[in-house]
Amino acid sequence: MDQNKLINRKDTIANESILPVTDSPFQGTIKISILYDNYQVASDTQAAWGFSCLVAGFSNTLMFDTGGDGEILGRNMEIMHKHRVTLDSVVISHNHWDHVGGWHYVRSHLSPHILYLPFEPNAELKNETESHGVVIKYHQNPVKICDHVYLSGTIGDDPPEQSLILNTQNGLVIITGCAHPGILTIIDRIKTLFTSEIRLIIGGFHLKSCHEEELRAIATQMKIRGVLACGPTHCSGDLTRNIFHDQFKNNYFSLGTGVELWLSPNQLSMNI
Ligand SMILES: [Zn+2]
Ligand SMILES: [Zn+2]
Repeated sequence: MDQNKLINRKDTIANESILPVTDSPFQGTIKISILYDNYQVASDTQAAWGFSCLVAGFSNTLMFDTGGDGEILGRNMEIMHKHRVTLDSVVISHNHWDHVGGWHYVRSHLSPHILYLPFEPNAELKNETESHGVVIKYHQNPVKICDHVYLSGTIGDDPPEQSLILNTQNGLVIITGCAHPGILTIIDRIKTLFTSEIRLIIGGFHLKSCHEEELRAIATQMKIRGVLACGPTHCSGDLTRNIFHDQFKNNYFSLGTGVELWLSPNQLSMNI
């Protein structure tokens, strides 16, 4: 991206939406439940290629991505006792099957009110969704979706992707879908929007084809950027998980289906 584009982009962000972030950080406890993932942690849940998690604790309950298969998502939700949740909105990170595939299941079984997309829906998706009373929101720029919860705005174009940002007392929590634009690019963009440090980043890091030296360099760069803890999963790759575990030690979370992360002002813990 050339410098002019960068300046224009910042102007756009400043004019349109969320800067400065005036929200005070969230003081309560947040629960992030991994519903769908390439990795299985709880033995009765099923792993499959894709990602979905549930974010509860804020004024709105959100689902981030819907996995690749609605039936698998539904079964995992039932096993995790999440199938009767009152869902306010669904955020889709990007338009790949392993993130949007469970949408029809979610729409028909959980009846969310709002669907946040990082792309313009085609006529079929728009009609089918809106005819069931779901409002579609498409934002290219960063936006606040409820108190303490933000979307990054679209980053990259192959495909455009958005991340979810939670503004907590101990720093930002970032959830990524596949991180196609690059995990460091996503972090750098979000750091232009917030002054808080990044407490935790989880989700797909898209580093499957990287070798060990590259992975160590990326982990180091994340720490230099102030990332305290991480949980690479989905398309991150086994080697990424091993290297990041080695680099982040106790601040690494081995995520997969059936895991619940509890984040309170004093504690960050993983329950299965
Ligand atoms: Zn993808
Ligand atoms: Zn993916």
